[in-house]
Amino acid sequence: MSTTQFDTGTPNLSPPPVVQGDPVQLADGIFVIPDRRVDLVPNIGIVVGSQAALVIDSGLGPRNGTYVMEQAKQLAGDRQLYLTITHFHPEHGFGAQAFKGTATIVYNRAQRDELGRKGAGYIELFKGLIADIGPTLDEVKFVDPDLTYDGQAEIDLGGHRAVLRSVGPAHSAGDQTIFIDDRVLFAGDLLETRMFAIFPYFPPLDTDVNGSRWLGVLDELIASKPEIVVPGHGEVSDTTLICDAREYLEYVRGEAARLRASGASVEEAIATIDAAARRRWTTWDHPEWIAFAARVFYQTGS
Ligand SMILES: [Zn+2]
Repeated sequence: MSTTQFDTGTPNLSPPPVVQGDPVQLADGIFVIPDRRVDLVPNIGIVVGSQAALVIDSGLGPRNGTYVMEQAKQLAGDRQLYLTITHFHPEHGFGAQAFKGTATIVYNRAQRDELGRKGAGYIELFKGLIADIGPTLDEVKFVDPDLTYDGQAEIDLGGHRAVLRSVGPAHSAGDQTIFIDDRVLFAGDLLETRMFAIFPYFPPLDTDVNGSRWLGVLDELIASKPEIVVPGHGEVSDTTLICDAREYLEYVRGEAARLRASGASVEEAIATIDAAARRRWTTWDHPEWIAFAARVFYQTGS
């Protein structure tokens, strides 16, 4: 279970996004199925205790969800299964139907409500943004969680303790962090490795992304000193990843405020910030998100 299989014979042609490979063990009983830096594939966590196992994020669509559940069952045997998601976005939560009836699905209240408000809208949004994704999305059926909570919830897996905490709105309204044993953090899209932060600002469907609160969440995560940090996308890392993400968001926040105060229009501010950030973070993927971040910070004015 310690190796990841890479298909080196063909390029990664996406979509459809496919969760692939074996779980990699990060610490005793704590696994990740790496995203291999494939678009629309998230890092997926599987935590196996003596009594129960927790899956973190499902992948996009029931086929990926079924693959993830089979991987979890191989690790967990007949232990009770739980599924939670870092947030409701399609590649993180739109495979949950594969788990319904087998695993106990746990969301925070904001996640559940956000999925209800925006789920169908995101299917249409993704169909418009991403070529050939339609058939994958047409298979999606939304399911309700079996349990919801407010604030914080703990799941005792037997030898591993999972703390689920509702921290949004930041990247989304219902962001959830999952801490395992106070040392391994699953952060979802609050963090990405070598990738610009995703600001899903799509009015009128979705305007909940909140850069200022996001910065506050990152401060709390830095203070919590996790040893291992699993981002939503990109390689597993440590606290330096949180500091890097914070530095970028703080840069955009500061520049947007400065340019706005100097009388620059929103489009002028976006162009300036976009060009500067591309020069500064040359190795990061998905620079198309810089403009979204600049717009959100400019509009909120802080
Ligand atoms: Zn997301």
